[in-house]
Amino acid sequence: MANRRLKETRPPPDAEARRAVAPVVCYPTDTLPQPPEPVLFQAREGLVLRDSVLVPPREARSFRAMAGQVIRISSVEGPQVGDLNLWNADDLTERFYSGKTRALHGTHVTTGDRLWSSFPALRPMATIVRDTLDWYGIDGFGGAVHDVIGTRCDPYTHALLSGGDQYHHCCHSNLTRALADATGLPLREAEGHVHDVLNVFMCTGFTRDTGQYFMKASPVRPGDHIDLLAEIDLLGALSACPGGDCGAEHSSDIAPCFPLLVEIFDCALTDGWQPPDRNGYDRSHGR
Ligand SMILES: [Zn+2]
Repeated sequence: MANRRLKETRPPPDAEARRAVAPVVCYPTDTLPQPPEPVLFQAREGLVLRDSVLVPPREARSFRAMAGQVIRISSVEGPQVGDLNLWNADDLTERFYSGKTRALHGTHVTTGDRLWSSFPALRPMATIVRDTLDWYGIDGFGGAVHDVIGTRCDPYTHALLSGGDQYHHCCHSNLTRALADATGLPLREAEGHVHDVLNVFMCTGFTRDTGQYFMKASPVRPGDHIDLLAEIDLLGALSACPGGDCGAEHSSDIAPCFPLLVEIFDCALTDGWQPPDRNGYDRSHGR
């Protein structure tokens, strides 16, 4: 990394001993509320298609799912990464919390993991009930699929790194337009509700030598899908990233891009589904 040359501190005599301290997992998930196992199976049964939307390449579209419905995101024509935002359908301030989801489940999510909402609700908004890429695991480069590390490609970082180039089809702008269209909010107001994403189908990791965030061509193929059980009523938006399979670059019109299909299903759980309670902290903050 560029600032390596500024490192000038000599290692202390016990440097190796300090490095050899074993790590502990920050948030052991033994006490995390898990979806009861039957839920994962019942969410796959009795699927009845209720709605669908095709997200065009380099664009985003919104969708709605009621608590207890299943949202399926599918690759249809070619390898394509999708940037997903989720909001409580009745309260845009409760939204997907990528950072806390990462802290709880790890850098990438798969079947059985939950997508958590922002403070103060901090509750599962959705649970992954099916992932046809769950065979992938962690590859030899340290890469894995369905990333909650990345934030979303955006025109500000692009302008910063490109010397001011204006590009309008980054996922951030696509999601902003989709949310504005879904809610009637002005663009500037909608933009404030766009948040760090679940990078559906995106294959990423950190380089071991420099610790830099890397991406590589997604292993997704047409027919692959990830299914999310909506635990609360959801408004969602999905952007078909201008990076395509994110094998080379994003924030341009160069990469081959394909649509993504979003389908909303009723399932065996839909009738009578009880959304999870909001978080139990009393919010007094010690006063
Ligand atoms: Zn993107």
